Amino acid sequence: MNITMCHATSGRRRRIAVMLTALLLACGLAAIASAQASPKSASVLKPRQVTQFQLFYVHPADSKPVAGRSAGIQHIAMQADTWLASEIGGGLSPRFVRGTDGRPSVLTIASILSKSEITDREDIAFDAMPSYVARGVVKPRVLPIFFIEGEQDYDACAWYWDGRNGPYISFPMDNCEIYPSVEDTFPDYASYTLAHEIVHALGAVGEDSPHEDGSGHVKGDPEDLMTGNDWDDVDWERLTLDPGNDDYLRTGRRGLANIERSPLLERASSTVWLS
Ligand SMILES: [Zn+2]
Repeated sequence: MNITMCHATSGRRRRIAVMLTALLLACGLAAIASAQASPKSASVLKPRQVTQFQLFYVHPADSKPVAGRSAGIQHIAMQADTWLASEIGGGLSPRFVRGTDGRPSVLTIASILSKSEITDREDIAFDAMPSYVARGVVKPRVLPIFFIEGEQDYDACAWYWDGRNGPYISFPMDNCEIYPSVEDTFPDYASYTLAHEIVHALGAVGEDSPHEDGSGHVKGDPEDLMTGNDWDDVDWERLTLDPGNDDYLRTGRRGLANIERSPLLERASSTVWLS
């Protein structure tokens, strides 16, 4: 079965066949989405214009933030960040908006929607993006990552979107019951899923990559973070980025989306945490 890392867990596989088209869009084929969508808003940035990731925690209007959630989100971002930096090499790592302690900062948003209203939507991040951008909640050149307390009516654990209203990453935590915790270590589901979506945002897997599977993932290669394999067929012990360097990382080939050239990476100066 060829479902992808930006979504699948075993409990949700039953809808995969009917959701295939939507999944393709979710996993990065934004050109299709853009072609079908209405004209873009001038205020919405295209992926190449964003240079920083910003973590957000979104909770429903009718409930308080869950204790420890922001800390968990920050923690798994650090886990993903550290792993990605070691894999990308060259001193590069994802450029997060960071606090004075050097750690990725997490901003909390109280949604105007109740938990049940959130559940009825397909993607509240898509709906809210124009307003967030207009109000400066999402600042210019920032690619937001929304951890949403609730479920969205969309068959994926998380997704990167770079069509109309994008780019952003949406991570509705109830969808696959993945709740970031300070106890997580890479590649637990939360940090793994976040790292996978970040690499989509960095430009992988481009449609010209030799092993691209038509959905923005790599065919086979169970150890590749961007494999299109089902989670049961991922080599969790040997995870890496682009084994063989022939698809999206240091390929040495012009015309391929080499993620090391993404403006969303920075030359890591000081990773200050030890955890
Ligand atoms: Zn994916």
